[in-house]
Amino acid sequence: MDTSPIISHVTTAEEQALLTPAEVLQQFKDGNKRFRTGRVTRRNHREQVRRSAPGQYPKAMVLSCLDSRVPVEDVFDQGIGDVFVGRVAGNFVNEDLLGSMEFACKVAGAKMILVMGHQHCGAIRGAIDNVQLGNLTTLLAKIKPAVAMSEDFDGEKTSANPAYVKYVAENNVRLSLNNIRIHSPILKGMEDDGEIKIVGAFYRLTDGTLEFIE
Ligand SMILES: [Zn+2]
Repeated sequence: MDTSPIISHVTTAEEQALLTPAEVLQQFKDGNKRFRTGRVTRRNHREQVRRSAPGQYPKAMVLSCLDSRVPVEDVFDQGIGDVFVGRVAGNFVNEDLLGSMEFACKVAGAKMILVMGHQHCGAIRGAIDNVQLGNLTTLLAKIKPAVAMSEDFDGEKTSANPAYVKYVAENNVRLSLNNIRIHSPILKGMEDDGEIKIVGAFYRLTDGTLEFIE
């Protein structure tokens, strides 16, 4: 029987203000360890809903793919009010997502931006395969730079090769990190001043593990 306490607490403005970006990253790493080892925090969601309603003081902003197998709060064992989540198939940035990140960090006080790609990503495979389908064609074009960046892959360069798909997905995360720094002077300035961390990660569907990308 799980005798761990049931958490009703939500992150407060004071707690958010005291957290450093490095502490937030460590909290998310620790949370992922709890998730992948089956020791997640027990939470009273009804009580957290009630307590978080007056205001939110999230610790981080995560940009994830659309994939239904990547439940962002769960992956980091975070609760209601702890994390801003932006999602788009292929986890690339555009001006709307950059604006959302600027809101999350500059206005709402989040201390970390984490761009998370994942294993077996359908959007990455679609970009590799040059899929043409309605508005998806336009979306996949935004992932094509990661495919172009992966020309140096040593091996079979097709969507049937999981190692190549992973290689492209990791490059796609690196491009997103670069694009954040290039296209958002606000976020770049906050990073340079040590107010936020901007990091990337690759999520393995098979075991719930995160590999951090520098
Ligand atoms: Zn995906």
